[in-house]
Amino acid sequence: MGIAGRRGRFGRVVELSRDVGEIVLDVVVIGAGQAGLAAAYHLRRRGLVPGVDFVVLDSNDGPGGAWRHRWPSLTLGTAHGIHDLPGLALGTPDPTEPASSVVSRYYGTYEETFDLQVRRPVTVREVRDARPEEYTGTGIADRPPLVVVGDDEVWATRTIINATGTWTRPHWPYYPGRELFRGRQLHTHDFWSVEEFRGQHVVVVGGGASAVQFLLPLAEVATTTWATRRPPVFGERSFDREWGIDVERRVKERTRAGLPTLSVVEATGLDLTPAYQQGIDDGVLVSRGMFTRITETGVVFPTTGPDGEPGETEVAADAILWATGFRPAVDHLSPLRLREHAGAIATDGVHVPRDPRVFLAGYGAGASTIGATRSGRAAAVAAARAVEDAADPVRSATARSATVRDETPAPQR
Ligand SMILES: Cc1cc2nc3c(=O)[nH]c(=O)nc-3n(C[C@H](O)[C@H](O)[C@H](O)COP(=O)(O)OP(=O)(O)OC[C@H]3O[C@@H](n4cnc5c(N)ncnc54)[C@H](O)[C@@H]3O)c2cc1C
Repeated sequence: MGIAGRRGRFGRVVELSRDVGEIVLDVVVIGAGQAGLAAAYHLRRRGLVPGVDFVVLDSNDGPGGAWRHRWPSLTLGTAHGIHDLPGLALGTPDPTEPASSVVSRYYGTYEETFDLQVRRPVTVREVRDARPEEYTGTGIADRPPLVVVGDDEVWATRTIINATGTWTRPHWPYYPGRELFRGRQLHTHDFWSVEEFRGQHVVVVGGGASAVQFLLPLAEVATTTWATRRPPVFGERSFDREWGIDVERRVKERTRAGLPTLSVVEATGLDLTPAYQQGIDDGVLVSRGMFTRITETGVVFPTTGPDGEPGETEVAADAILWATGFRPAVDHLSPLRLREHAGAIATDGVHVPRDPRVFLAGYGAGASTIGATRSGRAAAVAAARAVEDAADPVRSATARSATVRDETPAPQR
């Protein structure tokens, strides 16, 4: 049953049945963190109207993206730094205020300032092709339109910008005996305060920035053991503006090949600040290597005896804190079959070579606030172009030079 949908900015290319919504949107942005907001801003700058040509869907109850959930002791003074969103600078907030409130406030102001009309809470459960009986005509590159399925609503769209980050997919590597441990096990995702561990012995797992940021304050109230698969690499560089660009460069090669992305620390090493140096000198930031198994009461490390014979030693623990990172939150894209044999979605910048309707922002090399901002912009430009081309390929090619001016980032206020 085809119906007449409302005309979007670039003209209606397909007709959809009532089952999948009356309006064929140009773009659905999934996720309103740094990447999704940057994308929405640039869609607006290209003339797309929020709520008419595109919608932004977000599973959180309020603004802030993943930052909304970060533990209160993570302040902007201890975080690596937040890159400005386009068009509205963060300014110089109190470095001692929790990053969760600073960033939630900033994103909230941003959404209002640019009237981005983020719809929340909406968790996108799946994105699929519209079925032949649901539409007539064609979408992008002879593909059907996409159907974005939320909790209670569906949207039909020509393209999506997926900007769902990683926070909702904590990674827990498996070690034998994990289910036996009688103490507490938690992930970075669930960490709240070191006070919960006062007087305990905590094994912190993982060689990344989060592990280091947990170990130092934990050492003030508890005793700790640091477990890492590889010796941590502390470098002499600071996490300045160039940091995100450096991460992007190193991670890009892998995502292009569809390989699982590197963690930031695997790509850049850890910045050796004076506080970290002190932590090393105090023995807190010294890795014991990786344990081989978990018991009811602790973790077991391999040892080598004086004559080189292998042995084991158990370290008793009250808690194991898995600071073992996150994976891209892209399960809702499974129906589109985007994954390569290597396990991940291959990308060329924000493009997914397997599907011209899908753009990924904040993915792989874009997983820093500067990378998310840049890839949000690139995804907006690419999605808008794809829609323009589908609507009128000849006119859009001629008009392209005129839109270049539009793509220049707005001056910071
Ligand atoms: C502990 C920690 C500290 C970090 N510190 C820094 C730092 O100091 N500097 C820095 O540059 N980077 C830092 N990063 C990386 C940082 O998270 C990213 O740089 C950036 O904020 C991520 O932005 P994003 O928009 O890609 O994702 P997010 O901020 O995670 O936003 C994704 C949004 O999508 C929503 N979403 C997810 N799934 C769905 C779905 N199915 N349907 C609808 N909505 C969905 C989420 O609710 C969320 O609002 C840190 C990461 C971690 C884990």
